[in-house]
Order: sequence, then structure tokens, then C-alpha cells
Amino acid sequence: RIAYVNGEFVPLDEARISILDRGFLFADGIYEVSAVLDGKLVDNEAHLVRLARSVGEIALPLPETLERIEEIQKELIARNDLVEGVVYLQVTRGAADRDFAFPKGVKPTLVIFTQVKNIVDSPAARNGIAVKTLPDIRWARRDIKSVALLAQVLAKQAAAEAGCQEAWMVEDGLITEGGSSTVFIVTRNDVIVTRPNSNAILPGCTRKALIALAEERQIRIEERAFSVEEARAAKEAFITSASSFLQPVVTIDGAPVGDGKPGPVAKRLREIYIDFARTTSQ
Ligand code: PLP
Repeated sequence: RIAYVNGEFVPLDEARISILDRGFLFADGIYEVSAVLDGKLVDNEAHLVRLARSVGEIALPLPETLERIEEIQKELIARNDLVEGVVYLQVTRGAADRDFAFPKGVKPTLVIFTQVKNIVDSPAARNGIAVKTLPDIRWARRDIKSVALLAQVLAKQAAAEAGCQEAWMVEDGLITEGGSSTVFIVTRNDVIVTRPNSNAILPGCTRKALIALAEERQIRIEERAFSVEEARAAKEAFITSASSFLQPVVTIDGAPVGDGKPGPVAKRLREIYIDFARTTSQ
């Protein structure tokens, strides 16, 4: 596999950054994950827009233009013959002697690599996934896609130990989001609900595209916070993310959602999103 590190394409196992890199020492960095389908990037513009916003929020200058970053992403897809999977991108404040405040005159570190993944034809999409609810112990700026993911590492590990594929994080009795996904439910009155964007969650690119696609088809998605109890009583639940598109949720803390099988709304929206991904990827 070939990776990109600060201007160079190198074999992944030879790719190196400094132990003084602030991404390593302070998690002082931002990342993005874009899906690749049929060898092309899915909804990448939305990811680049969010990247620009995230780095702006922490006053981190990008070492390359967004146009150049997309060129590098595409070159990596080509060099790795990637048909389906993800492109991972990370930019940090660079390497400097360890001190909290921003160093002066340091070039940011830009690292990009690819991963193979079956997104369309996956058991999780077919059979649905199990989720575990946990307290959301993250910081107060979850709208920034920061590489500081320890809370999600712990949450997703606890979920995995409970035989679940995703963690749902809970604050004040309300679900914020998944460890690496946006949460949706379909209520007893057939209303599709997802939490509104705020500092409490990451504004999902898949979420945004899905809301627009649903709207075009006169399918309403209501944006409001909802409780764990409401999710447990829901007809259906599902998650979205760039790396999974949409996956139905069939159990919450061991209790079945609806009849415990992927529901019709989740299936239909997944098809709609896959069609969007295939027809707009580039
Ligand atoms: N929320 C969190 C915390 C995430 O880490 C992710 C993606 O990794 C998402 C939501 C979904 O965002 P997107 O649809 O842009 O992948």
C-alpha cells in the first residue's frame, strides 16, 4: 500500500512522522474520512468543506489547498487500485519541541492513506447491527473533527466487549451520536428523527446528504434530540457514516428494535444513498 506523507508518496510501512508531532503528543489535529465506491470519491466536497471548517476552528493552517488535497486523494486511490473503501486524511500542527501553545514557523503535517472496505455488500448492512448505550464523556466541541478520539475508543471497545458493533453516547438522557456515526430513529408515528447539529455532535456529511435526498422525495426528517427510552420504543433505528453509508440497528442494549430486523425505512434510505453515491462519485 502507498501512503502520502508531507509531499511524498511512500510505501505505508516506510511512512514516518516525528515523535514530536503535535498530533501524537497533544492530539492537536483534524481528520476526515471519505468513502470510495467504484474507485471514485463519494461526496468528497462535503468532507473538504468540513475539513476547512474544522481546521479553521482550531487555527490550524492547511499545508495544501483543498484542490491539491483532492488530487492527492485521487492519486492514492489510483496507486492503490482502490475500488471500494475509504481515504483517511489527517492534518496536525506539525512537529516542534513539546510546549502547549502553538509553535511558530512549523509546517503542518499532512498524512493520507487508503483502506479497503466492503461498504455496499456488508453483513452489517444486510443483517443490521447491535448497539450499546454509554455516557458521552467527550469534550464540548464535538462539532470539530478532532483526532482526540479516546472517549470513542473506550466507548467502542466497551460496545465490542458486549458483542455490539457501535456505541451510542448519551448525555442528559438524550442520545448525542454514535462513536463514529450519526443516529436516526423512526418513531411509532413513522417520523424519522435525528438530533440537530450543534457543538454536541459532529455534523455528519452522510446525515446532511441523506436529509437532502429524503426531502427531494417528500420524506421528512425531523431534527430534534431524543431519549434512550424513545429510541428503545422506536419502530426502527439506523446509523449513518461515510465509511458505512447507512446501517440498520436491530438491538439496543440487547433489546430488539421493532421486530428486531432491518426495517423498511432504513432499507429504502440505504438504497437511496447508495444510488446517490454511485451516480455522483468522482
Ligand atoms: N459522528 C461521529 C462522532 C463520527 O466520528 C462520524 C464519522 O466518523 C460521524 C458522526 C458521521 O459523519 P460522516 O457521515 O461525515 O462520516
